[in-house]
Amino acid sequence: MNPAPTLSSTALPAPRDGIAGAAPYGAPQLEVEHALNVNENPYGPSPELAAAIGRAAAEAAVGLNRYPDRESLALRADLGAYLAAESGIPAPDAHAVWAANGSNEIMHQLLLAYGGPGRTALGFTPHYSMYPEYARDTYTAWVTAERGPAPDFALSAEAVTAAIDAHRPSIVVLTSPNNPTGTALDLDVVEAAATALAEFRGLLVVDEAYGEFRRDGVPSALSLLGRHQNLVVARTMSKAFALAGARLGYLIADPAVVDTVRVVRLPYHLSAVTQAVARTALAHREELLGKVALLRTERDALAEHLAARGHEVAPSDANFILFRSFCDRDTVFEALLARGVLIRAVGPAGWLRVSIGTPENNAAFRTALEEADPR
Ligand SMILES: *Cc1c(COP(=O)(O)O)cnc(C)c1O
Repeated sequence: MNPAPTLSSTALPAPRDGIAGAAPYGAPQLEVEHALNVNENPYGPSPELAAAIGRAAAEAAVGLNRYPDRESLALRADLGAYLAAESGIPAPDAHAVWAANGSNEIMHQLLLAYGGPGRTALGFTPHYSMYPEYARDTYTAWVTAERGPAPDFALSAEAVTAAIDAHRPSIVVLTSPNNPTGTALDLDVVEAAATALAEFRGLLVVDEAYGEFRRDGVPSALSLLGRHQNLVVARTMSKAFALAGARLGYLIADPAVVDTVRVVRLPYHLSAVTQAVARTALAHREELLGKVALLRTERDALAEHLAARGHEVAPSDANFILFRSFCDRDTVFEALLARGVLIRAVGPAGWLRVSIGTPENNAAFRTALEEADPR
């Protein structure tokens, strides 16, 4: 009889550098009454819309023995039509739009196609936690420059151009509105970055995951698309669209950029169920986006409330607010959690980020904060 194999840690396969010992990214998924930590839309679909989504999934199910439409052109056309309606740009050709499983996959694909060994991607801190991970996964060097000082964490055309000249990156990621600060960018910053990058054929990605929450009069980089061949605008259905669970992100760019991304996508990456669900959601966009106005109003009211308490507050064009706590932020975070309110300890030391929930969620947060973070 063979001896039982001995379990030895030395027999474990060795992951590559950068992966060994690393933890998978993700905010805690806790059962709490007030989940205000990952910038979800707190409003789920109505029973009617949930039923329509269910019917679309059931129709797709009949054909699940076949691979899905690899090009998802019908969905891409729908997404383009939505962008045109939302921002006033001319309806783009479906070939200028690309869809994937969340804008996380969109960004990953962009880094796969335009990053890589010997190449550099540039971002501006404080930034979304995932960017360095896309770079790590694709062997792209991740470099950063700092955004301006609190409370508005602004980014100027001069600062962006100087960082581009210093690093000569293959990719620049600008986030507008920015996570975790909520700051939207002026279009002159986007234009300056696109122009500086064009000199050495660099790609500019503007991550507009929170674009629909921007305040009146705040522009979207979508309006610059015709003018800069190296500009990509990434969007998602996870936030304003209240569809985080379906996993649908997308980009709009020059069709040549889309064709390049198609080279690195995995075959049939977007399931038939996902495509059907996303198209149904887009057809019901008035309902799904119907709470955006309320969320913006609640955001502005909460920002005022926090400022009136004496907090430093970052002006927000997104569905969350970054504010500086009075007491140690981890203590405040835990004290809120003990009261059923889950927020996020991200951003510069001492700052906390709270997502905008329902009026009930937001009221619970205010009440809990009185005790969790006394002045
Ligand atoms: C939430 C978020 C996304 C969206 O991710 P999905 O994969 O589409 O859910 C993208 N970028 C930023 C900055 C975000 O905060």
